[in-house]
Amino acid sequence: MFEQNFKNEIIEIRGQKIGLGESKLIKIPIDRLPTGTLIEIPVYIFNGDQLGPTILLQGGLHGDEVNSIELVRRMLIDKSYKIHRGCVIVVPLLNVFGFLNMSRDMHGKDVNRSFPGSKTGSLASRMAYYLMKEITNNVDFAIDFHTGGEQRNNFPQIRYTPEDERGFQLANIFNAPFMFGSKLIPKSFRNQCYKNNIPVIVYEGGESLRLEEKAIEQGINGTLRVLKHFKMINGSIQTPENNTSIQINKRKWVRAKVAGLFTPIVHNGEKVKKGQVLGHIMDTYGETNFSVKSPYDGYVIAKNNFPIINMGDALFHLGKI
Ligand SMILES: [Zn+2]
Repeated sequence: MFEQNFKNEIIEIRGQKIGLGESKLIKIPIDRLPTGTLIEIPVYIFNGDQLGPTILLQGGLHGDEVNSIELVRRMLIDKSYKIHRGCVIVVPLLNVFGFLNMSRDMHGKDVNRSFPGSKTGSLASRMAYYLMKEITNNVDFAIDFHTGGEQRNNFPQIRYTPEDERGFQLANIFNAPFMFGSKLIPKSFRNQCYKNNIPVIVYEGGESLRLEEKAIEQGINGTLRVLKHFKMINGSIQTPENNTSIQINKRKWVRAKVAGLFTPIVHNGEKVKKGQVLGHIMDTYGETNFSVKSPYDGYVIAKNNFPIINMGDALFHLGKI
């Protein structure tokens, strides 16, 4: 299904050509800040000796989602991108500005709601534009790495586009602990790639502004499984097998019915039963104790780690098979 006319004989980014067997770091200039500082996207290209698929691995589309940046960076250091067949294009940190500001956004705008972007638009819009123009035109498919936001911790999971059979296949190859189809969000990177016929899977693991070893490892292992599947890396590289990914068919956020201090008692990733107590919300004076219960049998696929809760706040993301 992925066999096609491969594009990696010559990869061209920002006017620079990268032939078979070549590696290069190219910095794509986006704009200057008021201080005169140049904002650039660093892009690593590792082109193998043989024709094969070209894959984009992208971290830090949201600047505060540090696990995504760390796992891509760690694979750079580990030489995981020693590519024999096909080409890997690596963007360790797309949203440089958000990273510096410890923010998801780029100057108040979400890059992941700015596609297809414009070269004369806001910083976020320019970043989206150059990502599509210079990079994604070269690739056959992409893995976009994310984490939960605002202390909501996502258990390692892959999201794919239900209408996209190749994305579903990639999700199976990646084999994260959980996987599910997720609706396309207008102006998102995945939506724009879908329009351009480029399958994208989104890996989510951990939460923003916090490194989490398990989420980093699962992201690396899944990526290695994909690279190995397409015979892009040396066959001797170890790629730990997971148990088969659990396919989630229905999802629901359990929200707070009362305000107070929240203490979860189940772990992320845990299997839970209908009616099981998942956590407690207490008032600050110890007079009331409200039990949060599971509405159905399922799995905890994300958990809120923030203890001060208002009514309606999201507490647990529950997945049903
Ligand atoms: Zn994100």
